[in-house]
Amino acid sequence: VNFLPVKTIKDFNVWLIFTKVTEKSPLKYKFHNLLENILNISSVPLKFHIIVDNSSRNLAVNEISDVVSHSNKPIHYNLYDMDICAKVISDIVEAMMPHFSSKPGTYYSDALFYISLGLYRIAPHSQNRAVLLDCDLYFKKDIRVVFEEFDRFKSTALYGLAPELTPVYRHILQGYKMKHNSTFGEYYHPKNITKTMPHPRGFQGYNSGVVLINLSAIRKSEEYSVILRTKSVQSLTSKYKFRGHLGDQDFYTLMGFEYPHLIQTLNCGFNRQLCVWWRDHGYRDVFDHYFKCKHPVVILHGNCNTKIPK
Ligand code: UDP
Ligand code: MN
Repeated sequence: VNFLPVKTIKDFNVWLIFTKVTEKSPLKYKFHNLLENILNISSVPLKFHIIVDNSSRNLAVNEISDVVSHSNKPIHYNLYDMDICAKVISDIVEAMMPHFSSKPGTYYSDALFYISLGLYRIAPHSQNRAVLLDCDLYFKKDIRVVFEEFDRFKSTALYGLAPELTPVYRHILQGYKMKHNSTFGEYYHPKNITKTMPHPRGFQGYNSGVVLINLSAIRKSEEYSVILRTKSVQSLTSKYKFRGHLGDQDFYTLMGFEYPHLIQTLNCGFNRQLCVWWRDHGYRDVFDHYFKCKHPVVILHGNCNTKIPK
């Protein structure tokens, strides 16, 4: 047995959410393909942490053993119970749900869309950093390069996120933008510079299909624990007249505008979204400004059920 010196051991924690799945769900195949893809392309010792519910647990275990038997590589994983996770973050979900859920239901059914905000309570204390991934992703490069982004975080960053690549936040903020001359919701444009603003060149918001989470920094952050409270979420959403439907990423988008020091913006290649729904729903003229991504692609994201070209 070779023991590594402690300093070289790093946390390569990959979190996935796999709930409300049935035998026929597309999510089952997405989960299978993603595990296979990550195993094939990655060079670091990963630990998977998978949040499941009662109806999805056995499906997850079956898919994992299927991938293992075909790849001849082991998968190190732990399962976590969604009901327990939902309870642990219920205060966060209750604060967020009225503003960021499409049909606010019970905190229970909505919790899955807010896990990333409370993962610091769910993950064992021994974990210092984690990457939470959607299942509808395809890695073009080694996941090692994603973990290396943690080393580039500014000292105040709690989360690392890539931009949203559609005008959805331009749409949501149109009421606010009619009254205020703001770069919030505008596409990123190098010419559009006003130095006093937090995002002088336009801010498209964030997408939460790939979330880098600095767990130990979040656990220590007094500021973050205050921002998550009902009162803070209320004042933030009313300031921008913000009514969203995309869960955690709506909150990160507001955070990124109001508290930019807390988020590290990753380049778009780390979450190259493919959904073009907004192009055909009123935003044809500006869509491409939001959608363009000139960085090398590390991860493709087949969001809104878009087929991923391989
Ligand atoms: N998810 C889940 N059960 C569901 C829906 C979603 O476990 O019924 C998880 C799954 O990990 C999925 C993620 O939530 O990848 C986000 O959903 P999706 O990727 O479909 O959203 P999109 O990226 O299209 O907005
Ligand atoms: Mn997705």
